[in-house]
Amino acid sequence: MVGAQSMQMNAVCLRTMNKKAPAALETYLDLGGYQVWQRIIKERPTPSDLIETIRNAVLKGRGGAGFLSGLKMRFIADDAPYPRYLVCNSDEGEPGTCKDTLIMQYNPHQLLEGMLIACYAQGMSACYHYIRGEYQVQYDACETAIQEAVAHGFVGENILGSSIGIQIHNILGAGSYIVGEESAMLESLEGRPALPRSKPPFPAVYGLYGKPTTVNNTETIASIPMIIEKGADWFLRLGCENSGGAKIFCLSGHVKNPGVFEVPLGTPFSTLLSLAGGMRSKAPLKAIIPGGSSMRVLPAKATQSLTMDYDALVNAGSSLGTGGIIVMDKNTCMVETLACISRFYKHESCGQCTPCREGTGWVVRLLDRILSGDASKSDLSMLHDIAHSAEGRTICAFGEAFTWPVQSFLTHFYDEFEYYIQHKQSKVTGRELKGNRDV
Ligand code: SF4
Repeated sequence: MVGAQSMQMNAVCLRTMNKKAPAALETYLDLGGYQVWQRIIKERPTPSDLIETIRNAVLKGRGGAGFLSGLKMRFIADDAPYPRYLVCNSDEGEPGTCKDTLIMQYNPHQLLEGMLIACYAQGMSACYHYIRGEYQVQYDACETAIQEAVAHGFVGENILGSSIGIQIHNILGAGSYIVGEESAMLESLEGRPALPRSKPPFPAVYGLYGKPTTVNNTETIASIPMIIEKGADWFLRLGCENSGGAKIFCLSGHVKNPGVFEVPLGTPFSTLLSLAGGMRSKAPLKAIIPGGSSMRVLPAKATQSLTMDYDALVNAGSSLGTGGIIVMDKNTCMVETLACISRFYKHESCGQCTPCREGTGWVVRLLDRILSGDASKSDLSMLHDIAHSAEGRTICAFGEAFTWPVQSFLTHFYDEFEYYIQHKQSKVTGRELKGNRDV
């Protein structure tokens, strides 16, 4: 992934990208940074008003689920016990996604200000910022930002001379995909293996150390300062109906200039493709996975008038997910692509539930059987059955993460799977591959 751009008129989370020292406190202060936080400390608006503004802005979670952030904050009841915790989820591990890394590296102070406002709005005195294990550079940038913010009195005890105290802690993970699931992250923060919890109870009731907790994605939290500064209407108008604001999209795959782009929600897919320089060769578009590899694949015809927002993607048969768009041209073998994706999910299953632990293994074994030329047509039925029987029957959404690709690849590219079985080679590349039986 190279390059990062934001349409500066509409930039929200990447608005420091074109500055000389993007991560520096002075840069953020020059942009008016921390003014919202200073105003809050001085004027003490009611937390309820702040949450209402976020709710009216229709800020939806940017980590994948797209849940309304203001509503999630409301789940912390007014009479919920203290302490309450905020957890910022920067464990960015979804294949095709590399957006939170840029926020942490190039605009850490806006993320910090977002954490402070979110803590104030929910009566929280501590935020745990969980950073993906491989993101050492980003961890260092966030550590520096905290030190600068503490030195200026924005973070810590008696903030700006007030009685308010908020501590922010950066935590570097140990390298796991499933720790990005919010309850697994709480387990990890408590010092245990990152195994998702059965729900209910949900984190708002029984979260970190058994206390009321909100877990939000990095991009979600970093959007908050500008919502409070410019107002809910501004944010809502920036996006489109029912999807407020801008979103960071990561374009990878068969494009000329893979990169990261922050554009208003509702931007046509064709515009994003142009920003990435278009297709990398003369081979036309075959399909996209629009929101990280766990989202449903869409064939090219579904992208023709597609806009990139939550509702449009659902209507098209997929989801916005993380905004990690994987672009595939006509020369892509969908059997091999699905096998590659499925191996990842098999490797990352935590193993707690049978449909996921066994299902991921069976999916990989069946796909390898096809790639080895040993499959029969009944194996496709079995693949279909496994994908449908696991969905909705697992502790966490990983059950969907590994089944949605299987279901959608079979739906849209069934002929390629059939051809592979009949001819023992790829319909697209003509290659004969040896599947990996060692799984
Ligand atoms: Fe673990 Fe998979 Fe069950 Fe999630 S669905 S708890 S990853 S076994």
